[in-house]
Amino acid sequence: MSDSQQDGPRSIGEIASYHAHIYYDPAATRPEAERLRTRIGERFLVTLGRWHDVKVGPHDQAMYQVAFAREVFAEFVPWLMLNHGSLSILVHPNTTNPRRDHLTDPLWIGRPLAVHGEKLPEETELELAPAPNTTPHLRP
Ligand code: ZN
Repeated sequence: MSDSQQDGPRSIGEIASYHAHIYYDPAATRPEAERLRTRIGERFLVTLGRWHDVKVGPHDQAMYQVAFAREVFAEFVPWLMLNHGSLSILVHPNTTNPRRDHLTDPLWIGRPLAVHGEKLPEETELELAPAPNTTPHLRP
């Protein structure tokens, strides 16, 4: 078992890409999540994922995923900090260990929610950011 205290710091080269999971309540905050999704698409070169109105995988609330490349982080994540409204957002790196990525290494914007990490593997292939499906035309 590796221990970062003993072996030195991990390299950011471990990070292939990022996800932002944008949580909402289907009965109350879906319109807010829709507005945020539109605004993201207008401003950032990212991949907007499907709506999951019911819980899926390790997630404890309805959500959609935004996948993005390392280069997008520096503008996108601060923008989310300022614009998440009442929504909770989980931002996590994608390394070869999804369980660690979601449970011990993510950051939360807004109120943190439960994550069911036991549903995630501790080993997987690196996930590069998929082809973006947005056409940004506004500045963040
Ligand atoms: Zn994810």
